[in-house]
Amino acid sequence: MYTLGIDIGSTSSKAAILQDGKMIVGRSVVSLGTGTIGPEQALRQVFFESGLSQSDMDCIIVTGYGRMSCEYADGQVSELSCHARGIHFLLPDVRTIIDIGGQDAKALKISEQGQLIAFQMNDKCAAGTGRFLDVMAKVLNVDICELGPLSEHAQNPVTISNTCTVFAESEVISQLSSKTAIEDIAAGIHNSVAKRVAGMVMRLGRPSAVAMSGGVALNIGIVHAMERELGCPVQVHRFCQSAGAIGAAIFAWEKSLEKKV
Ligand code: ADP
Repeated sequence: MYTLGIDIGSTSSKAAILQDGKMIVGRSVVSLGTGTIGPEQALRQVFFESGLSQSDMDCIIVTGYGRMSCEYADGQVSELSCHARGIHFLLPDVRTIIDIGGQDAKALKISEQGQLIAFQMNDKCAAGTGRFLDVMAKVLNVDICELGPLSEHAQNPVTISNTCTVFAESEVISQLSSKTAIEDIAAGIHNSVAKRVAGMVMRLGRPSAVAMSGGVALNIGIVHAMERELGCPVQVHRFCQSAGAIGAAIFAWEKSLEKKV
């Protein structure tokens, strides 16, 4: 039995197909989010990769910021629950999840069964989200994929004192004009995001068995800055950006089992 999970985010669209709720047989990530052709492309790619088609799917569940725009799904589940289940599937020992996406950041506590116990969220401000990093990468004139590796070579990370994205952008421009090393600015940007997100994580109590999900987890500079701020290791699975879609495919599997009873 095959089930499909789709995560329509603010900046990217992800899809994942599971066989019998156990094995990932297809996965796609497209850097275009809700309101674009991103969801359609993500579907086309996941079917191409798996050699399956929509008619092979027993159940389809959609999650993410743009989930209401999907008409062909059998149901919708919140991103929080989907990331919890997705990370539990990928990294079963994890109990604290930090999910940083394109326009929000969340900290989740989950049970041994991967159920959501508590959460904290920032969806009011771009600071501490992927958007902040995307803006800063643009100012530094580097691709977002390069920002993490670049910051790993920092000698004297700068302090970015403004949390507001607009003021922080001016601060970065001023550092650039003072000829500060770009590596040191990149590290300062990561430290600023990590500090903000760590504050949110700590509101859930002392973190244990931590992992990151979402696209920002692909940024090694942020992962290391989070480890320094939290004082503990932070795990990252290579499918971290697909955790929500995988979680949605697990919910779809459970729903398809209910239908069969
Ligand atoms: P959403 O689900 O909200 O659309 P994602 O979880 O897909 O967001 O995360 C998108 C963010 O991930 C982008 O804003 C970007 O900062 C970051 N990102 C995506 N790909 C990479 C990469 N290869 N390296 C570093 N950061 C990345």
